[in-house]
Amino acid sequence: MSVVPVIEADVLRRQDPELAEILLGELARQSTTLQLIAAENFSSPAVLAALGSPLANKYAEGYPGARHHGGCEIVDVAERVAVERAKALFGAEHANVQAHSGSSAVLAAYAALLRPGDTVLALGLPYGGHLTHGSPANFSGRWFDFVGYGVDAETGIVDYAQVRSLARLHRPKAIVCGSIACPRHIDYALFREVADEVGAYLIADAAHPIGLVAGGAAPNPVPYADIVCATTHKVLRGPRGGMLLCGSELAERVDRAVFPFTQGGAQMHTIAAKAVAFGEAATPAFTAYAHQVVANARVLAAGLAGEGFVVTTGGTDTHLITVDPLPLGVDGRAARGQLAAAGLVLDCCPLPHGDSRGLRLGTAAVTTQGMGEGEMATIAALLAGVLRGRVDTRRARDEVRDLVGGFPPYPG
Ligand SMILES: *Cc1c(COP(=O)(O)O)cnc(C)c1O
Repeated sequence: MSVVPVIEADVLRRQDPELAEILLGELARQSTTLQLIAAENFSSPAVLAALGSPLANKYAEGYPGARHHGGCEIVDVAERVAVERAKALFGAEHANVQAHSGSSAVLAAYAALLRPGDTVLALGLPYGGHLTHGSPANFSGRWFDFVGYGVDAETGIVDYAQVRSLARLHRPKAIVCGSIACPRHIDYALFREVADEVGAYLIADAAHPIGLVAGGAAPNPVPYADIVCATTHKVLRGPRGGMLLCGSELAERVDRAVFPFTQGGAQMHTIAAKAVAFGEAATPAFTAYAHQVVANARVLAAGLAGEGFVVTTGGTDTHLITVDPLPLGVDGRAARGQLAAAGLVLDCCPLPHGDSRGLRLGTAAVTTQGMGEGEMATIAALLAGVLRGRVDTRRARDEVRDLVGGFPPYPG
């Protein structure tokens, strides 16, 4: 049996060759190039099976035991299992697993705690804040009054002194901690202290590190934050989706903020797939995986530093690395294109001084493939070789193909 049931079943190939070809083409792309996008991973065959299941057919507005549709008795069990597994995995009193995405989870957290026009303190977008942390192009920037803190231009670490002074000055209703570019652990206890001092809610947007938290390789924000928002598809390796974790006292507000305030029917196939992923994340194998992700990132960061990249914060505590490639003669935007042509797929990202010419890499996907420290050194040399023009694009593509050929994400 193949790992991609929908393709293996041959049903799609027979009925819709055009789409079958697209799906197989993407599978081939993922299997022959190097996936270094920090937000991506390879979810398991079991997760994909749940996603491709007939639970996708079921309408289920509401919550288990209180649905607006009939016939929910089976999917209710799936959602209860997902909730119980999430609570156990993260030590939370309450979990909502219906959020369709990380952004939907953040929207629901704001809806649970804030009113339009409220002041919110979050990491500024030029320093790694997410769109939902006050971008003018996003609902958050339109409906709330965001104040942005930054990172220390020298160390690249959150400027905690500035967080405190801005909190005292602006008295925000909520403080958001979480980043798309921070390679270091966040000091949740310190954020909690500042939030308490000014009477603000603390929202931890742990979309990136939550998978490391599950594997015991990063600090857990649950004991500190009023609400933790997360994705389920990054290091956590589940289906694309979101979730919220909170204490019992906010449970009802959070649930109502998801449904009916910001969403309609729950996606039961995705919720079942989240349950599968939480089950996987509770195993010793996942704990080992999470620690290997970090070990790999540390070796990759050191390798990149050795090749002349400026590594933000001097290294990493997580799956994520950000670098300035300028010493190699190219900025992040040009570098991303050159590297993509060579089969090395990664993102641009903000750098500590606030421009977006950095490169962001992550080790979640390559570690799932089974790569270890040795391969990380090879990858660092490949990245530098391409950008310095030591290795031409065609040869780099071949080298990438050879490397990933030994670690198929979906064997068979
Ligand atoms: C990825 C991410 C999100 C959004 O997740 P989506 O599923 O893409 O909506 C939100 N916040 C942070 C910090 C993220 O890294």
